[in-house]
Amino acid sequence: MTDKSVDVLLVGAGAMSTTLGTLLKQLDPSLSVLIVERLNSVAQESTDGWNNAGTGHAAYCELNYTAEMEDGQVNIEKATAINAAFEVSLQFWSYLVEQKLLPEPHNFINPVPHQSLVWGEKNVTFLRNRYETLKNHHLFAEMEYTEDPEVITQWMPLIMKDRQDIPPCAATRIAHGTDVNFGALARYMAQYLQEQEQSEIRFNSHVNRLEQQADKSWNVSVQSQGKTEVINAKFVFLGAGGGALPLLQKSGIPESHGYAGFPVSGQWLICEKPEVVEQHYAKVYGAAPIGAPPMSVPHLDTRIIDGKKALLFGPFAGFTTKFLKKGSIFDMPFSVRSDNIKPMLSVAKNNMDLTRYLISEVLQSKRSRVDSLREFYPQARDEDWRIGYAGQRVQIIKKDGKLGGKLEFGTEAIVSADGSLAALLGASPGASTTVNTIVNILERSFPEQVKTPEWQDKIKTMIPSYGESLIDDADLLRKVRSRTLQTLELDYESYARQQG
Ligand SMILES: Cc1cc2nc3c(=O)[nH]c(=O)nc-3n(C[C@H](O)[C@H](O)[C@H](O)COP(=O)(O)OP(=O)(O)OC[C@H]3O[C@@H](n4cnc5c(N)ncnc54)[C@H](O)[C@@H]3O)c2cc1C
Repeated sequence: MTDKSVDVLLVGAGAMSTTLGTLLKQLDPSLSVLIVERLNSVAQESTDGWNNAGTGHAAYCELNYTAEMEDGQVNIEKATAINAAFEVSLQFWSYLVEQKLLPEPHNFINPVPHQSLVWGEKNVTFLRNRYETLKNHHLFAEMEYTEDPEVITQWMPLIMKDRQDIPPCAATRIAHGTDVNFGALARYMAQYLQEQEQSEIRFNSHVNRLEQQADKSWNVSVQSQGKTEVINAKFVFLGAGGGALPLLQKSGIPESHGYAGFPVSGQWLICEKPEVVEQHYAKVYGAAPIGAPPMSVPHLDTRIIDGKKALLFGPFAGFTTKFLKKGSIFDMPFSVRSDNIKPMLSVAKNNMDLTRYLISEVLQSKRSRVDSLREFYPQARDEDWRIGYAGQRVQIIKKDGKLGGKLEFGTEAIVSADGSLAALLGASPGASTTVNTIVNILERSFPEQVKTPEWQDKIKTMIPSYGESLIDDADLLRKVRSRTLQTLELDYESYARQQG
């Protein structure tokens, strides 16, 4: 016996479910959609503006997306894939703005130049090679490069101010980089969903069981205020962030076997003092310290959250056994299964450097964190900065033929063979590439509908580059980018003029 039936049940009200819900309602308004969220409002976990770095990841400034190969060449494959995927998000958001389903863009996205900065001969050589390789690709044609400290001072005055005996240094810059308030974006999409017929969000409701039925649909048990309701859904999406892994395991689908999670917590240093904040307008990414995982690359970022500017420095990583910020310390122990114990042990054995790094990060005092900041911004004063707690990142542990198990820092969509259940694991590049990830899930879970002319036309209207390659087609990219920069008001030079 079930209490309710829906076409689509989305677990979690973060960036992923709200995007999937919005896309589906645009494609087929007759679908009944239910979002079930354990907390009392939208986007309180990783998606909230203060819980992530808000970088519109496009591989402009993040050096970890361009690996240096043994021969010194720089591999830009991952960078082009991430950049093209971010362009898909920009197109969808532009469509929503044009349709007035999202408000004026500055409420959720703002132009903030993306810059990389490195010190020392070796790093300078790497950045120069990276720039030389990237600038020849149309996706990165607007990238600027300099080794001149005076130009770097113009680009990032706060960081260069009063430095003596400057060692060799280099920087790159893309003026139309972005800061995104993913929390605001998810809330706007949730509001749109709540206004649609046959579309509902239930808060304070925890999904704790799901069982597939003979007709391939799912019976999902939802606990709320001590009562359990069973909801039948033709399609279930586990957009539960860190909570997706335990639910995926409970689904019992064969595709879930061998997966485990490695939670990494995070802290920021935050400054809201206008006299400091006004001296920096960029996201400046450095190189990761040796032995540090890619997600802990230090960066000093301008953030614009709910109309207010702030500076964020970090993240400082740490270890906890919680899969969600508001989760339980039993999350990780309870996720151990006979099918994932081997990959987990193998990752523990082969990643001692990471464990040591996380422990050393956890043990840092606020003072030593501000000391790390002073390597970026030498004049930083302890009293201007406070500690903020970031969301949880649950990195993926999966089976590996050679090693037994491996740790991955990306995002992975797991879809059951019959397409009736999909889950999203992992954290990076995260919310920036949501739309591309969700469209891939639609193709696997709604293959017949996606092939119809109606869905094809609608997807092309929402994402004009759909079905074509922004990586291969320079003309298409030019067209797409000029529209998104204009619609989303991301032209930095005119933005800077407006701001005076
Ligand atoms: C420190 C940090 C920095 C980051 N920086 C960036 C960045 O700069 N750029 C970027 O693009 N991405 C970044 N990310 C990643 C990005 O924040 C995430 O990829 C994105 O927010 C994930 O969205 P989500 O909807 O999957 O998960 P979440 O936002 O975590 O939402 C999941 C929701 O599911 C709910 N839930 C969980 N379990 C259940 C259950 N059993 N029943 C009901 N509800 C449940 C939770 O309460 C939560 O509301 C960062 C993440 C972190 C942690």
